[in-house]
Amino acid sequence: MNKSELNGSPHNMQQNYQDAMAMVRKFGKPDIFLTFTCNPSWFEVLNCMEGVQLPEDRPDIIIRVFNMKLKELLEGICKHGIFGTVLTYIYVIEFQKRDLPHAYILLTLDSESKIRTKDDIDKFVSGELPDPCTDLRLLQIVTKCMVHGPCGTININSPCMRDGQCCKSFPKQFKDDTEENVNGYPIYRRRATEPVQVGKYSIDNRWVVPYNPWLLKKLI
Ligand SMILES: [Zn+2]
Repeated sequence: MNKSELNGSPHNMQQNYQDAMAMVRKFGKPDIFLTFTCNPSWFEVLNCMEGVQLPEDRPDIIIRVFNMKLKELLEGICKHGIFGTVLTYIYVIEFQKRDLPHAYILLTLDSESKIRTKDDIDKFVSGELPDPCTDLRLLQIVTKCMVHGPCGTININSPCMRDGQCCKSFPKQFKDDTEENVNGYPIYRRRATEPVQVGKYSIDNRWVVPYNPWLLKKLI
């Protein structure tokens, strides 16, 4: 398997672009674009805090745990075949607000594992709140970590707002079925089900950031 780590600093972007294009020429277009975000409340981070320390006081520990979890994630994907057989992957690590790292990962799958139908997509990615009767823990994780905003008319001061619009296009539309290819991207199923209360907001499937249930539960 071919693997590549890119450096996220701006002066390397041209080289990164060249490397990514070389990968596409050799292995074909990537099948999955995955974002892996640091969670400063990971047990492994909180467990290392001394006295009144907060995670933001210990970026060294945050980075160490993030790298450990990223390795675990890549092993899960490549060795245990969560998405099938991976031909190649490439990732870049970036740092955003409060120096929290996140990784953007591109995966190219072999032809047997290619995600072709809407059923394939639904098997790997959900844009919906889980059913509490089926998986209460997953619902708790999704409502804590995978709900966007809220923004728009119910919270115009959200940081994602640009000129009165959410820059990530939330809330999404309700949708009865996943659509495989709309300008090269899927539109995920978001059925109009009962909203749940998250803090002071009532949230439904239009606000869910798409996630892979297995990875979310494993790496939270
Ligand atoms: Zn927004």
